[in-house]
Amino acid sequence: MNLILLGPPGAGKGTQAKNLTAEFHIPQISTGDILREAIRTGTELGQQVKPLMDAGRLVPDALVVGIVGERLDQPDCKNGFILDGFPRTIPQADALDEALAKLGKKLDAVVSLEVPGETLVERISGRRSCPADGSVFHVTQAPPARSGFCDKCSTGLIQREDDREDKVKARMVVYRSLTEPLKAHYAEQGLLRTVNGVGTPEGIYTEIKTAVAKGSRR
Ligand code: ADP
Repeated sequence: MNLILLGPPGAGKGTQAKNLTAEFHIPQISTGDILREAIRTGTELGQQVKPLMDAGRLVPDALVVGIVGERLDQPDCKNGFILDGFPRTIPQADALDEALAKLGKKLDAVVSLEVPGETLVERISGRRSCPADGSVFHVTQAPPARSGFCDKCSTGLIQREDDREDKVKARMVVYRSLTEPLKAHYAEQGLLRTVNGVGTPEGIYTEIKTAVAKGSRR
């Protein structure tokens, strides 16, 4: 199953990608996670992208395209993958088509999670992340067992720099102008499945599976 999860910041792509990974044993490929890991470990890539990410801007297409192209060629993508946060622009989508064609792979569905603006802001402003292992919590909706600390590794939780209010606004503008046009792009290819991203994580997950199964051409 080769899937893309599409949606604005805070739509729940990461949460749902993790559910799919756990059930179907196919990797979640999150460009945001890969880039944050590069920043954390202080690589050259990390140093290059940090100012852009902190500002809520996109990193250059060529950079993420290279990362994803290599990642999709790894053996664990043999039975499928879930792209989370990529593609984010039409040129990235075109590059993905090319990369998949070269690898002899095809997309099965593009799931667009639809969530109204107010809900997104609420979710993002309460989001707290573990800088060590990437776990994600929410201060009221998914609080950690011990307030302020990661359930898995006990590291102190932080608010991502780009989750601060002014940065969130910038990310929304980027989403509407550069990423949302991907919906029409994939609708034309008959791949788009829209799913209501408001509700319980479990309910939304069920809807995603139904939407993917309905559209299945295999
Ligand atoms: P969210 O979906 O909550 O906005 P992500 O973790 O997916 O967060 O992305 C965080 C940041 O990482 C983006 O604002 C951008 O700077 C960078 N980034 C991630 N994926 C891409 C991409 N495909 N193209 C360009 N920049 C990206």
